[in-house]
Order: sequence, then structure tokens, then C-alpha cells
Amino acid sequence: MTLNALIFDVDGTLAETEEIHRRAFNETFAEWGLDWNWSQDDYRVLLKTGGGKERIAAFQFSLADTARKLTDDEIRALHKDKTARYGHLIAQGHVTLRPGIADLVEKAREAGMRLALATTTSRPNVEALTQACWGKAAADLFPVIASGDEVARKKPDPEIYLLALKRLGLPPRDCVAFEDSRIGLHSAMGAGLPVVVTPSLYTDEEEHMGAAFRIPDLSRKNWPLMLVARLCSD
Ligand SMILES: [Mg+2]
Repeated sequence: MTLNALIFDVDGTLAETEEIHRRAFNETFAEWGLDWNWSQDDYRVLLKTGGGKERIAAFQFSLADTARKLTDDEIRALHKDKTARYGHLIAQGHVTLRPGIADLVEKAREAGMRLALATTTSRPNVEALTQACWGKAAADLFPVIASGDEVARKKPDPEIYLLALKRLGLPPRDCVAFEDSRIGLHSAMGAGLPVVVTPSLYTDEEEHMGAAFRIPDLSRKNWPLMLVARLCSD
């Protein structure tokens, strides 16, 4: 194996963004006059459905037949409002990168490794995060980006990772994926990738069978040996 590329999930992996997503959803529901309010416990379950629009649809499925429900067009419109609200919250500085992420990205760039994102979140959310945390456009940091609205089937389906690999032009054995959740782990494994899992606020009670490594975060003291060997040979 020659480690040539690192492929990152975004939400929960680069930063603990899920609480900001949840807040943006709830504020948007209120704005739309809906009496929906997702608690942390609700959201832990809802996160098993990848993709915001898909998550709303899954939630509606659990409601009583008599409850107000949104059409597909309304879900798309509400989700667009939620994405704008999320972008404002991120821009206001409500998020920071997880430990070790900035260091790892910098080291990998210095070592000439390829960097990619494979995320079910939408592209504006990715841009909001990289601007807030790095002051840079996403493509300046991660030249290959496969994001939510580009695939028909969201995680745990491998489609998003297969798209990232196709754009990288590399076989999975030359790459490593970084994930925080079980659905992300299964998506990356399904594409044939070795996976490093760093559980996050909403996924720390999940089991992550099949992960090459499961570590608390990506601080350098936790780096798997393969990363140390590739990035710290000096
Ligand atoms: Mg994630």
C-alpha cells in the first residue's frame, strides 16, 4: 500500500457541526410555523438517515397520519432555508475544527498527498465550514470534493466514496477514509477503503466494527502508525 490520498467526511469528522445543523433545523421549522423540535435524542436517531432532505422525509414518516406533512417541493424549499441559516451560524463562529485536523491537513499537503472530501452534506455547507475555519474556499484545501447532491444514494451506500475515488483516479488501497459514524464507515468500507473512525458527539456510543482504527481524535499523539510513517519521516 502506498498512501497517496486522505478522504474526509465533513460533519462530525472535520468539526462537531451536528449541533449547529440541529439548531438550524429547529429554527427553520419554527420559521415555517411547524411545531417540530428535534431534541438531541431525536437527532441521534435521525442521523442514521444520511442527507438533510432525506432526514426530514424519514421524520415525517414517523408522524401520525393526521399531522401536517410537507410535500417533496416544500421539503426542498425548507432545506434550502435551513442551509442558509446553517451558513449564517457557521459564519458567526459557532464551530471549530476537531483536534488535530488542521495539523493533519497541513502535514498531508506538505507531503504532497491528495486531499478529498466525501460528504452527504451539501456544497454550501462545506464552503461555510472551510471559510469559517481556514479562511479558504473548500477547493483550495480539498481539490477533490464529492458532496451530497451529486449522488442518488447517500451514506451508508458507497456511491459518494466511489465518486471521490473516481475523481482522485486512485484505487482504494492507496487512500484512507476518515469518518465519525457507522453509516460513514459502512459507506467507505463498501468502496473498499480502509477507515479511521474518530467518534463524535452523536456517534460515540455506536460500534464501529470493521474500522482499521478507532481513535478518540486526530491529535498527532493518536495518529495511526501508517500516518506517522508517511507524514513524519523527517
Ligand atoms: Mg459524519
